[in-house]
Amino acid sequence: MENTKEAQLQERIGRRLIFFPLPLQGHITPMLQLANILHSKGFSITIVHTNLNSPNPANYPHFTFYHIHDGLSETDQEASKTDILSLLSLLNVKCVEPFKQALAELLADNSGDPSACLVSDAILHFTSAVCKSLEIPRIALRTGGVCSFLAFAAFPLLLEKGYLPLQDDRLEDPVMELAPLRVKDLPAIKTSNPENLYELLQGMIQETKASSGLIFNSFQQLEELALSKLDQDFGIPIFPIGPFHKHFTTSSSSLIPEDHSSISWLDKQAFNSVIYVSFGSIAAIQEKDFLEVAWGLANSKHPFLWVVRPGLIHGADWLEPLPENYLEMLNGRGNIVKWAPQLEVLSHPSVGAFWTHCGWNSTLESICEGVPMICSPCFTDQFVNARYVSHVWRIGLQLENGFSREKIEMAIKMIMEKKQGGEFRERALDLKEKANLCLKPGGSSCESLQSLVNYISLF
Ligand code: UDP
Repeated sequence: MENTKEAQLQERIGRRLIFFPLPLQGHITPMLQLANILHSKGFSITIVHTNLNSPNPANYPHFTFYHIHDGLSETDQEASKTDILSLLSLLNVKCVEPFKQALAELLADNSGDPSACLVSDAILHFTSAVCKSLEIPRIALRTGGVCSFLAFAAFPLLLEKGYLPLQDDRLEDPVMELAPLRVKDLPAIKTSNPENLYELLQGMIQETKASSGLIFNSFQQLEELALSKLDQDFGIPIFPIGPFHKHFTTSSSSLIPEDHSSISWLDKQAFNSVIYVSFGSIAAIQEKDFLEVAWGLANSKHPFLWVVRPGLIHGADWLEPLPENYLEMLNGRGNIVKWAPQLEVLSHPSVGAFWTHCGWNSTLESICEGVPMICSPCFTDQFVNARYVSHVWRIGLQLENGFSREKIEMAIKMIMEKKQGGEFRERALDLKEKANLCLKPGGSSCESLQSLVNYISLF
């Protein structure tokens, strides 16, 4: 009897899951990691992807890829580099028809395993109506943290109570409903058209509530309170099964070539001595701020590995704003690369701290390696993540009110020196241990993953 049940379950697991990632680095990576995790559980995987930032199928020979035209013109693509909000809104409009066609075709294809459900990035909320019309369940993947998702879900309340739109004279006010956030930590952006943002978020929240489930790249012990609040408010099954990248090692989904010379450079540095600096794949800063970062790093006297992505500095191609002899002056103490193999960097014994923009992937990757952080959030959920790093998990400190070389130097010294830096590191190592444990048999993410597999198998 038990054997028959087991055999039926196995048969249902051998079905196809269709994934649709949002075509941005910080969203593609966790979606592909999740696809790998579910593939390891016996599902077949099809990735539907746009021409913008399409992943490299050669890195995933075990998946099937299905390309759709996203309908973005060259002007749209160019504008999207500086205006992510417009890009997200455009994708939710322009992808509807091509995606619907693709999904209908995939569902009608009888040659492979039958499809169980769509796993869609939560931001691509239009996929909810498409799934409904084609009668296939949709599970949302939110690639950010649970705490910031709750803050997004609270936007109607925040507007009603007058916290939003952001007003300069209220930035320091506490937001009682979302403690310990202050108004300036809310994941809003200063935009001439806030309605676009509210509409996008409303779509994301409403259609997530209408989904068959919600997956997070997070774990119970990290965001326990937020998860139980979400559970009450959303009334759909929630699966915190992260950290995804720690389930097992997979090939890199980097859209930019990684400079591996950074690892041989780290090999030559002393234990815990290096500050690793990266502001992720989208954030851009003004030239004057870039120079403050450069001098803050130089004056700190600590070795540093700094990712300066082409496009990081407004109006510059790459390093032109730096003084000509900047790196020579540092005698090998500084190393600048265009893009680093970040997971390898963070797990390297020479790295003592991470100065980050607090994108969710970077935050989680740092937590998983027990690396304390200096936080310089640039937009939306990064502010929430930074507040949690500094005031809830207390594994780092936030650089507030812009970049100044003196404050940067002080922050680096504080995080790298023994006493206070040691306390940050101790707590970070404690969280690292919790992240490791949650993936072990009986651990919260391991159990949640099994519930997800069982749940999907019933579709
Ligand atoms: N990343 C990387 N090399 C770099 C900088 C970043 O591989 O030099 C990766 C990083 O490991 C993370 C992702 O890019 O997985 C950035 O995602 P995150 O959510 O932190 O920020 P976003 O780029 O979305 O702002």
